[in-house]
Amino acid sequence: MPKRIMTIYGTRPEAIKVAPVIRAIEAHPELESITVVTGQHREMLDQVNEIFGIVPDHDLDVFAHGQTLNGLMAKVFDRLDPVLESVAPDAVVVQGDTSTVAAASIAAFYRRIPVVHVEAGLRSGDINSPFPEEANRKLTSQIAALHLAPTSTSFDNLVGEAIDPSTIAVTGNTVIDALLHTVQQEIPYHDDRLLEAEQAGRPIVLVTTHRRENWGGAMEGVGRALKRLATTYPEHLFVLPAHRNPIVREAVLPQIEGLTNVLVTEPLAYGEFTRLMKVATIVLTDSGGVQEEAPSLGKPVLVMRENTERPEAVEAGTVKLIGTDEERIVAEVSRLVDDPTAYAEMSNAVNPYGDGEAAARSVAAIAHLFGLGERLPDFAAK
Ligand code: UDP
Repeated sequence: MPKRIMTIYGTRPEAIKVAPVIRAIEAHPELESITVVTGQHREMLDQVNEIFGIVPDHDLDVFAHGQTLNGLMAKVFDRLDPVLESVAPDAVVVQGDTSTVAAASIAAFYRRIPVVHVEAGLRSGDINSPFPEEANRKLTSQIAALHLAPTSTSFDNLVGEAIDPSTIAVTGNTVIDALLHTVQQEIPYHDDRLLEAEQAGRPIVLVTTHRRENWGGAMEGVGRALKRLATTYPEHLFVLPAHRNPIVREAVLPQIEGLTNVLVTEPLAYGEFTRLMKVATIVLTDSGGVQEEAPSLGKPVLVMRENTERPEAVEAGTVKLIGTDEERIVAEVSRLVDDPTAYAEMSNAVNPYGDGEAAARSVAAIAHLFGLGERLPDFAAK
């Protein structure tokens, strides 16, 4: 009987990062893959599943506009438990730090099902930032039977919290597997203006923002900074694929209305987004995943946060933490546009997060949990 491995995920970044793992579980002769989506994000999640050709076996459909974190958690517990009971998986796989991850881990633990945590051990050191993700990730570390740490830094964080090192494998981040798979395909843009800008070689500043800690005033400041930058640099195109969350849209969009060189799009399909990242000049973001992807494409990344649980590319010099102060955003982007030396210093391609083999290492470690083969050698950043 193959071991039943149930992967539970709920948001766009989780879907991107578990897709390579799900594929590798499916390909393993002694493992059976079962997929459950909570639907914490709805359209953005479905979009990614479609791209990677994953049809979830169970859909808990918990999404509702404006629901609280507690309401969301309660729904996941309520709807996941019967699925855990009826499927009785041998292990549950979760990825990252969302409320889906925390709820699914606890639900599996209560049913004495071993939890495998993909992307374990990232720490900002501040329980309130990213909120609530830092806490979600730490909670899961307390419960997991197998920790798949992307880097040696995340391994050290776990060991520093007294996690048994024999339960940790260093895999690299599966986002690099997804990126390498996707970026080599020339996925067509749905919006012709992106193709025009790419073909004209127009300098593109790619902007994303969604972090809960930045909601409200900070995000309005991001919008105002964008307006000032777009006015100062009319030859640049500022592209903002707007997150679906209305709180984000209401804060940013009114500030940038009517500017012809700010292009606001719907969330881009993953392949379109990675294509755009590859041709962009500068990436301005508060995203976690983008902080990992853009450095491997050699793009300077300005991160609109005060801290990060992904210090590796900051140490390598490709990522800079700039916070959300309007003046600082304007100054840092302007510096990269105006000063070729500053730009060159930040635009080295670095790969501290992975080599594209993270899913293979992850699945070998999962199989090893059941005595099915050996783990692969740990990922070591070059
Ligand atoms: N992404 C995407 N389309 C977009 C914006 C982002 O496919 O329009 C991808 C991006 O490449 C990265 C992931 O979504 O892999 C990041 O998601 P997000 O910033 O929402 O979440 P975080 O990584 O901060 O948890």
